[in-house]
Order: sequence, then C-alpha cells, then structure tokens
Amino acid sequence: MLTSSHRQAPPISHHRAVTQIIPGLPAADGAGVRLTRFLGTAALPILDPLLLLDMMHSDQPQDYVAGFPNHPHRGFETVTYVLAGKVRHEDNKGHRGVIEPGGVQWMTAGRGIVHSEMPEQTDGLLWGFQLWLNLPAAEKMTAPKYQEFDASEIPEEGRDGVTVRAIAGRTSQGTTGPIQPAATEAIYWDLILEAGQTFTESLPLTHNAFLVVYEGEVTVQAEGQGQAISTGTLAVLGAGDRLELSTAKGGRALLIAGKPLNEPVAHGGPFVMNTQAEVLQAQRDFLAGRF
Ligand code: MN
Repeated sequence: MLTSSHRQAPPISHHRAVTQIIPGLPAADGAGVRLTRFLGTAALPILDPLLLLDMMHSDQPQDYVAGFPNHPHRGFETVTYVLAGKVRHEDNKGHRGVIEPGGVQWMTAGRGIVHSEMPEQTDGLLWGFQLWLNLPAAEKMTAPKYQEFDASEIPEEGRDGVTVRAIAGRTSQGTTGPIQPAATEAIYWDLILEAGQTFTESLPLTHNAFLVVYEGEVTVQAEGQGQAISTGTLAVLGAGDRLELSTAKGGRALLIAGKPLNEPVAHGGPFVMNTQAEVLQAQRDFLAGRF
C-alpha cells in the first residue's frame, strides 16, 4: 500500500563492497630493485584501465640502489608517488628532475620514451609507489609528456580525522587533484585516517576501483558488513556509487580508480598496446633508436 511517506524516495545508493583481496607479492624489477607488486600479477593481471601497481619500501640500500637504468615505455602512463626518500629521473627528450617526499610524477609515455629512474640516496628509507595507467588506442602514439608536482602542489582535504591528498580526480567536496586524465578520468587519492574515524565518499559508477592499505588497517563497509583490509593488501572494490571506510586503529591507503577503456590489451614488457603486432613494432622502433 502506498503511503504519503512514499512521495519522495531517496536516491538509490550502493556501497562498493570488497570482491577480491590480493596480498602484495614480493617482486624484483629494474636492475634488481626489490618491490611489492599489488596489481599486474597472476592473481590480478589488470583492472582496466589500471595495469600495474608496485610499492618500493626499504631502508636497506642493496634493495634499491641499482634503480631502474635506461629503459623504454610506449602506450601508457606511469605515475610515481614518493612517500620517503628521493627518486631522480632523466629521459631522452631532455626532461630531468627529482621526485621528493609527497611529490608525484605523472609521465605520459605516449609513442615512446627512454628514461632512467634512480634513487637519489645511498642510505635511508626509500618508499614510493608506481602505477601504470593505460591510454586509449587514440592516445597511445601521442607525444611524450611529463607532469610533476611537489608535495605543496598536491591539495589536501581535511575532514574530521581524515586527510585526502588528491593527486588525480575530484572529491565530492570539490578538492581537485592537479592531474585530470581525459580518457580514464582516473582518481588517485592518498587517504590518511586517524584511529576511530570513518570516510564516506561518492565514486563514479563507471569506474573500476581498488584500495591498497599501506599502513595500519582499514575496513571497507558495505551493506552492513565490514571487511578489514590489513597493511600490504589490495582490495578490489565491486560495483557501486559510494565508498565507506572505517578504521579502529588508524591507517593509510591509496584509493585508485579509472573508467575502463574496454579495448584489447597487448602487454609486452615496457610496451602496452592493443595488438601483438603493435608490441612488436614498438620493439623494432626502440631497437632502431626511433624513440
Ligand atoms: Mn620506467
């Protein structure tokens, strides 16, 4: 029976629940840098348009000093976010710089770049993340581009006991990250939650999304149930338009999301194209010095 209280139904809102939990895997890349890989593994090869997420976290120089000497990329973007220590980069297009704590480098490899990424230190803690974000077919052969922002250029939104560092995407309160990738509409937020706090935010229904907890413990709340995510773990977030997090003891996490490209992905080492023929072409172009 309809009653008068029915006249204004609330908009339907659906919280994103955890659909998969992926512990970070020890990995090595570059010239022997020890990493933890969260995305881009057998357990989770891709979450379109998100291709890879690595974390470097060590105070043992032998884990990182060898760095990532000259290597190529084509067809996607790399996002490097440093929490502690410094990373120097230099490429064959004349760009160079140092990413310092709290800073981010967003590199669009486009049609091709050769660069090095080396720790700017021989001791102490080095802690940072690198995300690989796909480009649509129409932008894979675009001109290479760098966007760099130091810690003071990353806007921070303070809520009750929660800080959102907005690297990309816009929060419901209007805090807008300096990077706005057109095709993937990517969101990249570093969330710092104090003990006992909650964080509620809207997320686009269109986006694939995950949360990586890198300190403490964060619980994803959905439909009356909480799923605790511990440090060093990636949680894939299911469909929905809301995200609700809570934490008893405090925690820090990256919330990363993007609109799927729904295009074929041919991934060959440092090249991510749409077909295997395009990956082979990238290898030929690199070896022939055409990057
Ligand atoms: Mn690289």
